[in-house]
Amino acid sequence: MNFENKTVIVTGSARGIGRTIAEYFARHNANVVISDIDQEAVDKVVAEIGSKALGIKADVLNLEEVENLFAKTVEKFGSIDIVVNNAGVTRDNLLVRLSEKDWDMVVDINLKGAFFVTKTAAKIMMKQRSGKIVNISSVVGLTGNAGQANYAASKAGLIGLTKSAAKELAGRGITVNAVAPGYIETEMTNKLPESVREAYMQKIPLKRGGTPLDVAATVAFLASDEASYVTGQVLAIDGGLSIS
Ligand code: NAD
Repeated sequence: MNFENKTVIVTGSARGIGRTIAEYFARHNANVVISDIDQEAVDKVVAEIGSKALGIKADVLNLEEVENLFAKTVEKFGSIDIVVNNAGVTRDNLLVRLSEKDWDMVVDINLKGAFFVTKTAAKIMMKQRSGKIVNISSVVGLTGNAGQANYAASKAGLIGLTKSAAKELAGRGITVNAVAPGYIETEMTNKLPESVREAYMQKIPLKRGGTPLDVAATVAFLASDEASYVTGQVLAIDGGLSIS
């Protein structure tokens, strides 16, 4: 895959899966915009990637910061070809113990944040008459998960956003797809107790956790010209978890 002359914004890319996605695009010759809530962490990733990377602090829940992110990107690179809605959080708890604060925080960042970013991206991409948006949902958005009602609802909502945006934007040459990662080895999953981890390994047909690189390669495919006839789809990257 070659993303020469393509510009990619990845939200929440200062670490974890988002960072790996940004590095993957940079290795395949794209201009990448690293964007996250922590300026210092953003600067570190930009320094490691080098001259093809631009760092812009942006909280996806702050529409002004999101608009600034897109304006600065266009100013520097001239276009925005690919947007990856990756920023996301968890605040797990059983339904009866789940606070309003933790519900709002997870649904706001994971879903409203993606809405702000998609809306802002769409305005620019519609004028360009081209663009690719890839949303990072989750396998629990397809299957649900005990202890993750807020997270599962936000990720299922993201699938609804993906399909609606795909229908609205198709006429302007813009594709919108989602990936649904399963158990991926990151800081998010490293916090899980060993017993939960073992239970996952039993359930996953491929008997291993995925890597951020597994996710990055699939995202890159959906953002590539090779996938230009694919829109409104959800591709699970889960070792078969969602079919087990
Ligand atoms: P992570 O916590 O390592 O990284 C998430 C990043 O998002 C962090 O850098 C964080 O600072 C950033 N972020 C948080 N709130 C933000 C905001 N308001 N604005 C901008 N950035 C913000 O998590 P990860 O495991 O790398 O997950 C990345 C994405 O993949 C998330 O959407 C997550 O839900 C999804 N996902 C992860 C897994 C997994 O197993 N790790 C599985 C399925 C889906």
